[in-house]
Amino acid sequence: MNAKVASNVTAELGEGPSWDARTGILYWVDIKGGRIYAHKPGNESDDIVASTKGVSSVVPRAGGGFALTSRHGFYSLDLKTGRIEPLTEEVEIDLESNKFNDGKCDPAGRYWAGTMDQTEKSPSGSLYLLEKGSKLKKVLSNITVSNGLGWSPDHKTMYYIDSPTKKVRSFDYSLPTGEISNQQVAVDFVRSGQIGDPDGMAVDNEGMIWVAHWGGGRVTRWNPSKGVLLDTLQIPADQVTSVCFAGENLDELYITTARDGLDEKTLASKPLAGSLFVSNVGVRGLPTYPFEG
Ligand code: CA
Repeated sequence: MNAKVASNVTAELGEGPSWDARTGILYWVDIKGGRIYAHKPGNESDDIVASTKGVSSVVPRAGGGFALTSRHGFYSLDLKTGRIEPLTEEVEIDLESNKFNDGKCDPAGRYWAGTMDQTEKSPSGSLYLLEKGSKLKKVLSNITVSNGLGWSPDHKTMYYIDSPTKKVRSFDYSLPTGEISNQQVAVDFVRSGQIGDPDGMAVDNEGMIWVAHWGGGRVTRWNPSKGVLLDTLQIPADQVTSVCFAGENLDELYITTARDGLDEKTLASKPLAGSLFVSNVGVRGLPTYPFEG
């Protein structure tokens, strides 16, 4: 199992990959570059399809078009016109240091996304969910760097990562209501001697979870009910930010990375930092769920 470069685009802070099954395109963002890229599997280069400062996640909308998160909230995106419009009131505008980070839709089409303290020190962030009809709810507070999200194949468990905790948490999840309860630790990076911080994540159809290692140069696969490491995929870039299953059979794992936070010496030794990678991991993943709102 190895990863190869998927396109010749280099991002400052690549993130937020999502697979649009309607068109067979992987969308991903460069948060620091303020760009949304479209990657057609097999193409050498990616198109910049929209530019907006601080864009941190992008998802297809069931009714057409896309939704995204950027600094203070959730927005709609029309790729034909390039128009970006708020879906909710802005969030945390009084918190100078805060901004939205990773986001993803659950199997019922609710858009979950959390905020982070840009100094990565204060637990001033929260996890939000945007329901159909633009009802925004704060679900968790005391979050420092809100990151990866995922749901089990039976839709009974939600996974969530607040990176500095170095843990993947699990919750009992109710598909009809979106409520979460019974928080537990699914994976503990410290106890299992892992390098780096957990960042973005994805779930495969065997119920195993794939976690990107920020500062660890790898993606790891875990059995989340036992906290056991199953596999390690080395990535030739240290800041591995997120993962997403894509392709017609959902058996290609795309991996975003960053140049952000690396000094010149490290960048010289890791010239692929910031690239989009792909790996045939030999297992199928769960789909990217579109936003139903
Ligand atoms: Ca992230």
